Amino acid sequence: MRLLVVSTPLGPLGSGRGGGVEITLNSLVSGLLDRGHQITVLAAEGSSLGPSCTGAELWMRPGRPQLSSQHAARDADVLMPADGLLPQFWRVVLEQAGRGGFDAVLNLAYDWMPFWLTPTLELPLFHLVSMGSVNAAMDGVIAEVAAWDQRRLAFHTATQAADFALTAPPVVVGNGFDLTAYGLCLDPEPLLGWVGRVAPEKGLEDAAAAASQLGRPLAIWGLVEDPAYAAAVEASVPPGTLDWRGFLATEQLQLQLGRCEALLNTPKWNEAYGNVVVEAMACGVPVVAYRRGGPAELVQPGCNGWLVEPDNPKALAEAVTRVDQIDRGQCRSWVEKEASRAVFAERLERWIQQGL
Ligand code: UDP
Repeated sequence: MRLLVVSTPLGPLGSGRGGGVEITLNSLVSGLLDRGHQITVLAAEGSSLGPSCTGAELWMRPGRPQLSSQHAARDADVLMPADGLLPQFWRVVLEQAGRGGFDAVLNLAYDWMPFWLTPTLELPLFHLVSMGSVNAAMDGVIAEVAAWDQRRLAFHTATQAADFALTAPPVVVGNGFDLTAYGLCLDPEPLLGWVGRVAPEKGLEDAAAAASQLGRPLAIWGLVEDPAYAAAVEASVPPGTLDWRGFLATEQLQLQLGRCEALLNTPKWNEAYGNVVVEAMACGVPVVAYRRGGPAELVQPGCNGWLVEPDNPKALAEAVTRVDQIDRGQCRSWVEKEASRAVFAERLERWIQQGL
């Protein structure tokens, strides 16, 4: 297939602004290239693709970043900057539609306009939905596409898909990771880890409380999206509890993350998937997560971590005392079987070919 993959309009690939979508896009592109497909990626100016994506063409456009729907009010109207990336991207797609250069378009943006365009675009347009329900306008337009032809939609987990008004059982594709990028570490330090955008929906304060209760340091990796929130979390625990390591490229992230005895994952929202959960497991790090959203489908209690009652830091701390029962090699094996780039690309290919 000749596919045009449209990236997130939140910012350039490689900046971290796109959250988990950045890694999803890289795995998706390299996995589909490996299966012999021709891929063009449309992304924000300043983007870079990973080394395994060199076979793809990268088209870049300038423009102001879109505001993330996830931080808009549930009943907010649809907004976009007139000189924004979103209208730039979709103008390119509309121009391409009549030219015959592509078999299909794959949209990775969680934005209203591309969903709304689906029934009228001259090219088959597919959407990998990257979040659960956060906004009524998005719920509405996703339901509209589902009612028109649900084969155009895929989701990362069943829990995420359950947020939407669908007409048939959802296509669930999971996510995929380039396992050569993550080393298995079998000798951890007495250190807990937390990875994610530092923003309220990620619940860092609960991980901080659990670490403080255990008297262990908590290393934090990720983009500080909300500095006031980060400061409030810092102030909620004794000084020295939190070790802020910043946003690192995967190569450095996996080296440091692998040294943790456990990753704490504390979503306050219906996390669609939870890339960081799988990335930790790929390094051999067991995950202690809230039984909520995607992580509740990824963590297999006793195999690659433990699940605990949501919003309960005490339960997190208690489960951390049991991570020595988890075999770090088994965490990695679970990822190899369920969330490799190759497995993900096969599922994507099946979905798009059936939709076509
Ligand atoms: N991440 C990273 N470097 C860091 C911290 C995070 O590259 O220092 C990446 C991480 O690998 C993951 C993404 O940020 O792929 C966060 O994705 P996730 O699905 O966990 O959450 P989202 O931000 O999409 O809600």
